[in-house]
Amino acid sequence: QTTTKPPPLPSPLRFSKFFQANMRILVTGGGFIGSHLVDKLMENEKNEFDVTQPFFVEVDRIYHLACPASPIFYKYNPVKTIKTSVIGTLNILGLAKRVGARILLTSTSEVYGDPLTHPQLETYWGNANPIDRISSVEDILILIGVGRMFNVMKALLREIRIARIFNTYGPRMNIDVGRVVSNFIAQALRGEPLTVQKPGWQTRSFCYVSDMVPETFDGLIRLMEGKNTGLINIGNPGEFTMLELAETVKELINPKVPVLHMLQLINPKVEINMVENTTGDPRQRQPDITMAKELLDWVPRVTLRDGIPLMEEDFRLKLWLSKE
Ligand code: UDP
Repeated sequence: QTTTKPPPLPSPLRFSKFFQANMRILVTGGGFIGSHLVDKLMENEKNEFDVTQPFFVEVDRIYHLACPASPIFYKYNPVKTIKTSVIGTLNILGLAKRVGARILLTSTSEVYGDPLTHPQLETYWGNANPIDRISSVEDILILIGVGRMFNVMKALLREIRIARIFNTYGPRMNIDVGRVVSNFIAQALRGEPLTVQKPGWQTRSFCYVSDMVPETFDGLIRLMEGKNTGLINIGNPGEFTMLELAETVKELINPKVPVLHMLQLINPKVEINMVENTTGDPRQRQPDITMAKELLDWVPRVTLRDGIPLMEEDFRLKLWLSKE
């Protein structure tokens, strides 16, 4: 195992933003009464802060993941999205520089746009369309954020780790995020048709979240704790057309909304509904993970067929559906 966990926080020295932002509360002696006090303070301490505001804290490691992850959310507040990514990243870089923390930034396979090389290597410049594409906020960020800021970042900090993350799915995904896996699973559970956007043979490669973050085969933690800096693709090379994905979801997820038919309760059959697509939807995406394999000794383990049912329970709870 090359993975080492980041050092734990020194436990008696917890601080909290209980009364006002950036206030640090030190509780010494976390015994009977002290532990209740700390619990209370931590209850109000959501560990949330706005990356667009300067933030002061002493840390050893920074995983910078703050950014809305779907066109639905960019469109809701595009200016805030740009601020979060650009000003937020600069603030976090400033913090890393100030406190000497190691930093890992998360980028996206959206950088590769509608790629003309396949699979996509880290060195590929990409073919993103910042004008027509509905997710153009993301594409603007790619142009100013990743394309240009990388050199600024390197000038600011000697070491930068960047994970270029491909489509990821799993429990706790927002059900309204509008991504294809969450849409299909929610639709199947509700007994609604799966909305495959035309033409249906566009491809994506889906990585189950446990390969990306926690537990044992954690790409991001390996990147953070490993010696290698720079940019690396983190994703699952298993590539599927959207029609294949829809068929897999149809097969694996049984809608548990019985309907009464000829006086018998039956489960409705999930249909596929071909719907219009947005302009500039990339036709193919597949990560080349040679670098991740060689430098991090990392490969994703969870196949799409194994991962989809693992999301079912979580979505069932979100939709208030029982198992039976
Ligand atoms: N897609 C689909 N039905 C949906 C949502 C998305 O067929 O309900 C398609 C979409 O056209 C795209 C693919 O799924 O080709 C992946 O879309 P998603 O937004 O999940 O990820 P991204 O395009 O950012 O890779």
